[in-house]
Amino acid sequence: MPSIHEHAQALADRTVALRRDLHQHPEIAFEEVRTAGVIAERLRALGLEPRTGVGKTGVVAVWDSGRPGPTVLARADIDALPVPEEKDVPYRSQRDGWMHACGHDGHTAVLLSVAELLIGRGEELRGRVAFVFQPAEEIVRGAEAMLADGALDGIDADHAIGLHLSSMHPLGVVAVREGPSMAATDSFRLTVHGRGGHAAKPNETVDPIVVASHLVLALQALVSRETDPVDQAVVSITSVHGGTAFNIIPEAVELKGTLRTFDAETRARLRRRIHDVAEGIATTFRATVTPDWTEGSPAVVNDAAATARLRAVAERVVGPDRVVTNAQMMGGDDMALWLQRAPGCYFFVGARGGEASAWPHHHPRFDLDEAALPIAVEVLAEGIVDLLTA
Ligand SMILES: [Zn+2]
Ligand SMILES: [Zn+2]
Repeated sequence: MPSIHEHAQALADRTVALRRDLHQHPEIAFEEVRTAGVIAERLRALGLEPRTGVGKTGVVAVWDSGRPGPTVLARADIDALPVPEEKDVPYRSQRDGWMHACGHDGHTAVLLSVAELLIGRGEELRGRVAFVFQPAEEIVRGAEAMLADGALDGIDADHAIGLHLSSMHPLGVVAVREGPSMAATDSFRLTVHGRGGHAAKPNETVDPIVVASHLVLALQALVSRETDPVDQAVVSITSVHGGTAFNIIPEAVELKGTLRTFDAETRARLRRRIHDVAEGIATTFRATVTPDWTEGSPAVVNDAAATARLRAVAERVVGPDRVVTNAQMMGGDDMALWLQRAPGCYFFVGARGGEASAWPHHHPRFDLDEAALPIAVEVLAEGIVDLLTA
């Protein structure tokens, strides 16, 4: 039997070819029909019986060694973005306006190769692996949809694991962080209702533009004056809409924004305070406000023990000097919901090999250095084997 390293290398061409196929056929959130078909076909070829259409376009397949042991949930996200591709590569997107600009094509190919690798060495293993291919990560709705659709029915996962390929990290570097590592992402809309009228007679109106202006500034105090400086949080107002002409005071102004937090209590408190401040400011100036809150994903919280184990595995695979502690990220990921079901670890594998793979995620020129793919396969496979043999 070859080593896992040799095995991952032997699968490298297949992993790259599949990633390129997916890259050419990107599909955005909840439209991953072809992608799910490719995944299911591959899983069937491995002798598994995938459940498809889970949470609309998700796929779940369980491999059972037939020997008692833990159950590991391994998750890959599969969706692309509504970004028009600007790279000129042979595997360029064939779909106008859509692109795998975050590397989820790589995640899908890596997890399928990991499945092939593990099943190929099934005799050495015990326990079960639930392979979860999740749609709609980019709108943080896919995990929720899959769970609501019974993705984990009959699967009692002991551990969860997943990875994100990253152009923020050099090729082959594994970046991981214990505890809260990616932020909870909520969004909100605050509609300020005043009373419109003539701009030259403001006294006969309730000017929602002035109220909204006070509100934008007042909300900034929630982080700067009410939140512990070592507890990271962001309140951003990202859209202000109201009014039509220079001489009309409008009826209403609509504000949109986002709240990013790591701590669950801070998240709940700031949500409450945003509502309180909005109402207080509106009342002060004789206006009213309608808040509309959209709950996003909770924070990604990595289990301490699982993170220590993944770190040890990664140090063996890529070397201790290539394993780094990742910074906390204000971006979110609905891997958070799988980690709430089973303690585990979500980590990053560097895929920035040169200029072509140094573009930021979601950029029209984003690309992966494909040499990262077999490394990711090896780290993830070793990580799962480590959890199965616990
Ligand atoms: Zn993304
Ligand atoms: Zn992503």
